[in-house]
Amino acid sequence: MDKTLRFTLDGRPIEARLGETVLEAATRAGVMIPHYCWHQALGNPGNCRMCIVEVEGAAKPQVSCRLPAREGLVVRSISPAARRAQCSALEFHLVDHPLDCPVCDQSGECGLQDYYMDIGRYKSAMREDKAHAGKRLALGPHIMLDQERCIMCTRCTRFVGQVSKSHELGIFGRGHRQAVDLVPGRALDNPYSGNLADICPVGALTDRDFRFQVRVWYLDSTESICPGCSRGCNIFVHTSTRRPWQNQGRRLARLKPRFSPEVNGHWICDEGRYGFLDFDSKRLGRVMRLKPVSEELSWDRAAQEVAAALRRKPVEGLAVAASGALSNEDWLAFKELFVDTLQARRFLFAPEPDQAGTEDQLLRRREKTPNLEGGKALGFGTKIESLGWDSLAGDIEAGKVWGLYVIDRDPAQAWGGRSRELLERLDLLIYQGPRQCLAGELAHYRLPATAWLEEEGHFTNFQGNVQGYQRALQPLGAAKPDWAIFADLERRLKP
Ligand code: SF4
Ligand code: SF4
Repeated sequence: MDKTLRFTLDGRPIEARLGETVLEAATRAGVMIPHYCWHQALGNPGNCRMCIVEVEGAAKPQVSCRLPAREGLVVRSISPAARRAQCSALEFHLVDHPLDCPVCDQSGECGLQDYYMDIGRYKSAMREDKAHAGKRLALGPHIMLDQERCIMCTRCTRFVGQVSKSHELGIFGRGHRQAVDLVPGRALDNPYSGNLADICPVGALTDRDFRFQVRVWYLDSTESICPGCSRGCNIFVHTSTRRPWQNQGRRLARLKPRFSPEVNGHWICDEGRYGFLDFDSKRLGRVMRLKPVSEELSWDRAAQEVAAALRRKPVEGLAVAASGALSNEDWLAFKELFVDTLQARRFLFAPEPDQAGTEDQLLRRREKTPNLEGGKALGFGTKIESLGWDSLAGDIEAGKVWGLYVIDRDPAQAWGGRSRELLERLDLLIYQGPRQCLAGELAHYRLPATAWLEEEGHFTNFQGNVQGYQRALQPLGAAKPDWAIFADLERRLKP
């Protein structure tokens, strides 16, 4: 039974659920009590002692992450006694902490900096030399460890024990020699390792890709949805127009998980987190007719020519390969163009094999596109069956297909060495997508589409959750959203 308890925190009434601790109830109510080791998804070992509070009637201060909420409890987290205890805990954590802030990637989002400014500001009593430990230790492909900065909160070892269940990290040694390190013979290479940089409250575990690239206060943040698979994890997109990123030709700095209790909890996988690294590579920005005469076109001219070409031969011989990366808005315009107006009959939207991959029990899904469900809601995959790449190849070889409209798919991944020959047999090949591929090279018309971060829209994940994403970047060149391209063609083709 969900029983509600009431207690007082700093004079304010707080409601707690039965079994909740004071720290959990306070956090849910939006009251911040300092803490490092407690994490909503990883439990409360109570070893960092930062969440110490004064409890009326108790002989000594208590750690609020292990203090069960009780009816009538009176708790003070900002009283002089509570602040003194928290400040002492912070001073203890900083005894051996190096003064790395000017060169530390965590600077600007560090739990030590934040609490020092909020509740610390003490004059250090440390006169001895600080203990030294390992620095710049590459634990795996994505994470770097600095043992000197570690405050031994054990979030990382709990993550590899409870969440990824890969057990690569342990705590070794005792006293001032105690350190987080790899289990001998192991590397930190589990598919969720990037989350360690998020949960480490200090700069001990940092992201190798993001290291030394840009200061966090120069980042802009946009709410988005990962397009890496049909889970649709909620994320923040961090972008920067500062020099280091521009010099690398990159506009995206990093992706971070955004808490969603129904979809991804606190985590994202490494495939999704680092899948953006090629976001700006091989991008298309010009509207092109490539055959018979290569020429850059205006959108108006291209739409006019493509609309005429689509009507040139019987629609029975026209095939359309669509991607599960289309948004709900794109799918609707797609249906209006190809089903309602053109009445096309050959569709390919199944993810195999070019948009399928590894799945697991935690987050990753086999379909490596975000929105097959959005298509299904309009009948694609339910009322309208999908061709496979093999049967489409057979139809092209048999001369049953004269035209192919490819939307953000790469036939070369399915057809391998046969691709060029098959694509060159077609009288009409149209490629529409954000980046170049063989179909784009061999196409008669190549239409540049925006990538997901350059538009806003909605994806429906495999659970049926419809989730919105915002525009984080400007489109490149003349690229337009898929729905706008479909709508323009539909307007011209409508009887
Ligand atoms: S490395 Fe970070 S997460 Fe791990 S114990 Fe140290 S401070 Fe905590
Ligand atoms: S599980 Fe799927 S949606 Fe989530 S981060 Fe990984 S690739 Fe992206």
